[in-house]
Amino acid sequence: MDTPTPEDIRALFDHYLAQGCPCRFPRFRATVARDMKEVGASLWTVSDIGQLLAAFDERVPLVVEKREDFMTRGHCSICSARVIRSWAPVFRDSFLERAEISPGHLPDLGAEVLGVVPVCGPIFPAAPVNVTKAERARIEDAYPRLAPRDWLAYVAALTSAA
Ligand SMILES: [Zn+2]
Repeated sequence: MDTPTPEDIRALFDHYLAQGCPCRFPRFRATVARDMKEVGASLWTVSDIGQLLAAFDERVPLVVEKREDFMTRGHCSICSARVIRSWAPVFRDSFLERAEISPGHLPDLGAEVLGVVPVCGPIFPAAPVNVTKAERARIEDAYPRLAPRDWLAYVAALTSAA
């Protein structure tokens, strides 16, 4: 299954930053906050989250207020959104990456989240799991899936009409 290229993600962040900050985009916030325990798959994740957060960590500096073992609380140095950046250890050196972002002084700009937030990249368990084929299929099919081009358009959209 195709995933966005590093150049795609760079261009997406160029777009976000040209519009102020990624924190202003509800679809970005919803994508990086996704916790798959909502579909009974707490050890699973989707590669989209790691891909977006790697760019977020690199390009959106946080003013750190509190550093805990697997969590940094702070605010965005660009827009002052409150950010809880976490990486739950799951297995050996594998982590479930997340960010909970509460908007700051810049009003929301990106399109609203309408319906279930779609996925693009692989959905996978962060730890070795024993699941039946049917259960694996249920988890992999839990969310609508978009091809990279459509997913990029979804997360970048400025209006819900897009
Ligand atoms: Zn921000």
